[in-house]
Amino acid sequence: MKTIKTIEENQAEMSRWRRDIHAHPEIAFEEHRTARIVTEKLESFGIEVATGIAGTGVVGTIRKGRGNRAIGLRADLDALPIQEANDFAHASKNPGKMHACGHDGHTTMLLGAAKYLAEEADFEGTVHLIFQPAEENEGGGRAMIEAGLFENFPVEAVFGMHNIPGMPVGTFAIKSGPMMAAFDIFNVKVIGKGGHAAMPQFTIDPIVIGSKIVDAYQSIISRFVDPQQPAVLSITQFHGGDAYNVIPNEIEIRGCTRCFSEKVQVLMETKMKQMAMSICQAYGAKVEFKYEKRYPCTINTEAETDIAAQVASGIVGPERVNLNPKAAMGSEDFAFMRQKKPGSYIWIGNGDGEGSCSVHNPGYDFNDNVLPIGATYWVKLIETLLPPIANR
Ligand SMILES: [Zn+2]
Ligand SMILES: [Zn+2]
Repeated sequence: MKTIKTIEENQAEMSRWRRDIHAHPEIAFEEHRTARIVTEKLESFGIEVATGIAGTGVVGTIRKGRGNRAIGLRADLDALPIQEANDFAHASKNPGKMHACGHDGHTTMLLGAAKYLAEEADFEGTVHLIFQPAEENEGGGRAMIEAGLFENFPVEAVFGMHNIPGMPVGTFAIKSGPMMAAFDIFNVKVIGKGGHAAMPQFTIDPIVIGSKIVDAYQSIISRFVDPQQPAVLSITQFHGGDAYNVIPNEIEIRGCTRCFSEKVQVLMETKMKQMAMSICQAYGAKVEFKYEKRYPCTINTEAETDIAAQVASGIVGPERVNLNPKAAMGSEDFAFMRQKKPGSYIWIGNGDGEGSCSVHNPGYDFNDNVLPIGATYWVKLIETLLPPIANR
């Protein structure tokens, strides 16, 4: 393992930062204390800081030497609305809130890297350290972009990292192409004409029409999507009707989709809308179709992924970097930044031994032994991407 010596020596201090953040979790857009701690630490390393971006977002900027190239490194600040089950000293002091996804560790690794990048690292150019709010559910990454993140802090590429329990400490996984799925939700309201169940000829029965829509949707993936492209379309709710002898006026169908390509995402939405409209039209019903794009797919670009994989291999050895991990059906807010800029998102092992329970579990904890590995990755990535101009 080739972690940077100064960072290794700083591990005890990084653990203290991480445990302090873990003990004081804050959920989406409420990360005021966490953002303040991040700001104070960055300023103490002599880094220029911008705060209050999309509420609680923070960007630290380090400029060294000549050159106008710039890179973005991104971490997430938020916790989850989960009651922590751990009873160690740094367990959550905020009831019903918990760092159950390791964003306390992600923030700390970027802080550890920031200190070294500001004080010792050998590079020329600009690094923007992006600490985003609300990764879980609320799209804080999108909010930062809408607040002008890349206009105010332009970068040529952006990089992200997430811990993965079950992967041993000292391992990474990364590949170009899709890493995390897109996640969207939909509502289909069928408005017919209610009436007496004994006289269906005077009604437009939304239950029968809704059932045709449910059935038609089952063939979208099997008949329109390339069989080599993973996709899921699940109808999870069907609401309507109150009585044995009444045909209701309307029904509502809801569900979600998951996939790994924008093309499939658009195809599913288009076909769902077309089918709902034409089935309703055939039966003389009205339809209200709503499709809400939640998170896009996280797709790693090739050139940036090659460099990230090389950097990870240089730290832990090539045999400890999985270059063909199975993409996850979960979703990532980093996808919004990746849509705007080339970039890559890497998984770092959080340990596979005792206590390596999954993220979003009330017994989860970030593994402090990972801190110097992740911080070294960030530093080496910058030294590789922005070498001193004399060496270019
Ligand atoms: Zn999470
Ligand atoms: Zn997470």
